Amino acid sequence: MEQPRMEWTKIFKREAAEYLRDRWSLYLNGRIIWNRPNPGYKQYIRKTYGSFHCSLCRRTWSSNIVPILFHFRLNKKNKKHWGTVKVRRYRQKCKICREALMWPSISTVNIEILMENLVKNIRKKCYHEVLDENLGEYVREHVKSPHETELCEGCFDGIYFSRNI
Ligand SMILES: [Zn+2]
Ligand SMILES: [Zn+2]
Repeated sequence: MEQPRMEWTKIFKREAAEYLRDRWSLYLNGRIIWNRPNPGYKQYIRKTYGSFHCSLCRRTWSSNIVPILFHFRLNKKNKKHWGTVKVRRYRQKCKICREALMWPSISTVNIEILMENLVKNIRKKCYHEVLDENLGEYVREHVKSPHETELCEGCFDGIYFSRNI
């Protein structure tokens, strides 16, 4: 079951209104590619905890390694400035069906943590603000099975979390 887009945009708007001086918009996007941002776009990646529900066999599972990729840019035209963020949530396959990729469901708390860290990154990269390195850590849950590369869209895209990001 896909999460409502509204939740992401609403939380982002709130965070952006507090810390960013220009008008910024966030769009869910399944097509942006790791390490291949469009010209002018900056890249940021975090991982989070997500739960999954297979629409074919109804199995549910969860993962502490759900990559969330952001490509963003500050647009400037004459004196007008506005920002665009594209966000991709990487999917996973059910290990029984091994067919369709399922979207992660991410808690409100973890979306808030993602958005706080994202806005900090935008302030650094687009507004050259000097900020401390204290990033919010996502809320993890106990996960029974190990991360399976062949079932993970993020791993397929070449994303590898070698350190705690
Ligand atoms: Zn399944
Ligand atoms: Zn993976």
